[in-house]
Amino acid sequence: MDGSDDLSRAVAALTAPELVTIVDLVAWRDAQWLHVANAAGSARIATTAADGPWELRSGRHPLGSQDPMHGVPLARALADPSPPNERNAYPFAARRLLSAFGDATRSPDLIVIHTPGHYWPERGGHLGEHGSLDAAQSRAPLVLSGAGVHARGPRDAVARVVDIAPTLAALAGVTMPGVEGTPLTDLVTSGARHVVGLLWDGANCNDLLDLARSGALPNVARLLANGTALSGGAIAEFPSVTLTNHTSALTGVGPGRHGILHNVYFDRAIGRQVIVNDVRTWHTACDQLRDGVETLFEAVARQRPHAVTACVNEPVDRGAHYSTFGLVRAAGIVGGAGDMGDHLPPLEGDPHTTAEWASKDPDYAWSSRVDALGLTQVLQLWAPDVTPPDVMWWNTTVTDTGHHGGGPYSSESRAALRDADARLGAFLGLLADRDLLANTAFLLTADHGSEAADPGCRGDWGDALRDAGVRFRDEGYGFVYLGALTDTAM
Ligand SMILES: [Zn+2]
Repeated sequence: MDGSDDLSRAVAALTAPELVTIVDLVAWRDAQWLHVANAAGSARIATTAADGPWELRSGRHPLGSQDPMHGVPLARALADPSPPNERNAYPFAARRLLSAFGDATRSPDLIVIHTPGHYWPERGGHLGEHGSLDAAQSRAPLVLSGAGVHARGPRDAVARVVDIAPTLAALAGVTMPGVEGTPLTDLVTSGARHVVGLLWDGANCNDLLDLARSGALPNVARLLANGTALSGGAIAEFPSVTLTNHTSALTGVGPGRHGILHNVYFDRAIGRQVIVNDVRTWHTACDQLRDGVETLFEAVARQRPHAVTACVNEPVDRGAHYSTFGLVRAAGIVGGAGDMGDHLPPLEGDPHTTAEWASKDPDYAWSSRVDALGLTQVLQLWAPDVTPPDVMWWNTTVTDTGHHGGGPYSSESRAALRDADARLGAFLGLLADRDLLANTAFLLTADHGSEAADPGCRGDWGDALRDAGVRFRDEGYGFVYLGALTDTAM
């Protein structure tokens, strides 16, 4: 029995009709083809032509629609939430899947994409989900505002998360040659004195724009009044998980180039599991970047050696002059942020935290304290008596927590967006006081979207693989490595 036996038996088991409620599709590649299949059909595309034609092999195409504007705006998403495969869409599917298969030792042999409704709390799943290939879980917001942004008003358009770093670079007057993303130079130009990138982890694009229009997010509305938003936002790389896409947002390349394949993956070169997106490992995440990858901070330093960069609450910080996780590393705290609970500000008296959700959800409470510390750092970096950074990146955590806890469009996710908006307001107020608003460019985005799971849709495809005699390990989940693979001792 060799690896190809494991692959064919795994594909047969996972595309069985009994798993149709939890398995949306599977994908794998060989030297010539990227293959996709599910219970209803199969298709393939040449690995050398990610934008070329798909070849239908049987039944119905598992990626029949790749419309990047699927489920936009909010009313359309609410009319058909968490749609089944035949009514769903998978933007830029070939490019994103090929990138996920593009690392020599960390890419899986087989990818399982679960249905939007699949609820899997025993593997870390939540009521609000992301990670999949579909439009809703992949769609981050994209708002551009202020100095250097010449577009005004909403635009029915879509960008990609890999476009974020080159766009921030363009605003800062530098370039990032060789990246996979494209600077959005039809919307922005260089010349801002200060450039600020804001990442609200897990923020749902439709809801963010709708709440801003309705007055519930006055500070996002303030940005929109002086800029533009793409209604289709920015499509994440695959998988649409946190650290893969923070890295893509700040390097302009997909996981096949930057090497952060998933929040957790197996690396055949070292024979063990690598966990990058964890409170105890965030401060060392950049150790996993592949050679030849450049961060936004490094690109600015290379071309504007006198410019000062800052990176707040963000693991992908290599090259930044000021960094939250740089302080963690400098302090020599072995357990990283996991050992820093006592250093976070208390919840009591925080005017930007919704007390109801902080008391109901311990994750919301912890994320609020992390974000309060982030705001403290931002206000120090821009304090009246200091020279503010030329380029700053500021990551917000509670938005992801709120979307996981309640799902998108829930009272918890909306409380988290309001809290993030209030912290943004404190920052904008300081800039206004210092007369810096007119000289500052803002880009507000996220790392992925959020889609509601169905608590009644349960199951584990691992049982089907084991019943079929497949030797495998499943990381992430959905990254399936075939063969007898056990962790070597560290
Ligand atoms: Zn995230």
